[in-house]
Amino acid sequence: MGATSESAATVSGTPETANIVTRFAPSPTGYLHIGGARTALFNWLYAKAKGGTFLLRIEDTDRARSTQPAIDAILTSMQWLGLDWDGDAVFQFERAARHAEVAHQMVESGHAYRCYLTHEELAAMRAEAEAAKRPLRVRSPWRDRTPEAGDKPYVVRLKAPTEGATTIVDRVQGSITVQNSELDDLILLRSDGTPTYMLAVVVDDHDMGVTHVIRGDDHLNNAFRQLPIIKAMNWPEPVYAHVPMIHGPDGGKLSKRHGAVGVEYYRDELGMLPEAVDNYLLRLGWGHGDDEIISREQAVAWFDLDGIGKSPSRFDLKKLQNLNGHYIREADDARLATLVAARFDPALSEDQRTLLERAMPSLKPRAASLIELADGAQFLFRQRPLAIAAEAEPLLAGNAQPLLAALHTALDALDDWDTEALESAVRQVAEDAGVKLGQVAQPLRAALTGRKTSPGIFDVLVLLGREESLGRIADQIKN
Ligand code: GLU
Repeated sequence: MGATSESAATVSGTPETANIVTRFAPSPTGYLHIGGARTALFNWLYAKAKGGTFLLRIEDTDRARSTQPAIDAILTSMQWLGLDWDGDAVFQFERAARHAEVAHQMVESGHAYRCYLTHEELAAMRAEAEAAKRPLRVRSPWRDRTPEAGDKPYVVRLKAPTEGATTIVDRVQGSITVQNSELDDLILLRSDGTPTYMLAVVVDDHDMGVTHVIRGDDHLNNAFRQLPIIKAMNWPEPVYAHVPMIHGPDGGKLSKRHGAVGVEYYRDELGMLPEAVDNYLLRLGWGHGDDEIISREQAVAWFDLDGIGKSPSRFDLKKLQNLNGHYIREADDARLATLVAARFDPALSEDQRTLLERAMPSLKPRAASLIELADGAQFLFRQRPLAIAAEAEPLLAGNAQPLLAALHTALDALDDWDTEALESAVRQVAEDAGVKLGQVAQPLRAALTGRKTSPGIFDVLVLLGREESLGRIADQIKN
């Protein structure tokens, strides 16, 4: 494979005009990691941008580590992020017979061989490599021997090229060349006949018609080990795009020690909207000029592999929270009310949910997450007499008492309970007492919500209604 052209399409891989097929291939060993979610998003977007197909393959060949809860978490998280896949998810383990079939075909065609090296022989080779301080690259003596007759245990190894070099023109990393002498005769089938991961990936990608392999650059080395299998089978080479890792704020690879790494955590514990997480993940490693807020439609219109950055990106929770605040302000009130209602325990009644929806325009500007929305909405559903937060207690003492009494009288006398009438009545109370509006609003807020901060006081009065508002004020008048 000579790397003579700059274009990945002509050097390795399918022409970009062909029908594009991408895939996301998670190993179900835990939640959907934020890095995995970004890989899924990039694959999804690329397929949509090019009118192609996006497939999902669950790489569950590691039976000890793959679990059903992890599969469920991945599927749920992808659905939540709006990353729907075409057709049914492919389960890799179910395809083991097909993987083995390919390995045997490769033995037949001379691209793989049966290796009868024993554990002891391998251990000796390992010790020798360690002593010489070089990595173990297995080139078994069985490479060029006639297979044993009988039923001695063997593994099937790839007959990797030893001469020359392999070049991958990666759409993100550029042109990378590895000397074939650095490759090893990796195992394709274990002695129990089960396929290895390296073989399974290649066979599945081929059988699923995958044209573009977009994945984390922790798999770049694997690409050089997978290509000889592809070439041996005379299959078309995919276009590769290896995306740099996401790093934590301290520059190290993003991991559990940085806190939240699973998508569900962002949904459940941080109260994020999926469009905010998608937008953030898109910008994390991909750019379109200076655009920060990018809708799904714009992303589909603009996404291309050229916009993927070459260096690792740093995860910035503050940025994600800001984006989430933006999308909360944009979101439909009924949808937000439903999402926030689900966070209340005990569950809200339908009337309460409706009230929550009415309150959304007042709550939204102050919240950067569903958690903050739910917290800001607490006052709507509290039982009288309200427990007053310690910080709000002083607002109800001393001078506040005669003001509360005056407010109660003035508001009780109103015919109309609307913003205009309420505002002029409260202003009048302030004027009569010779104080600023704020000095009346603060005790009123404390009495109505039990807190120091809340939506605008007139909105609070309207939302609570006459009876509840007057009751809450009366509760705080001490004698
Ligand atoms: N199953 C691999 C992983 O979860 C991905 C393999 C691939 O994309 O080729 O890291």
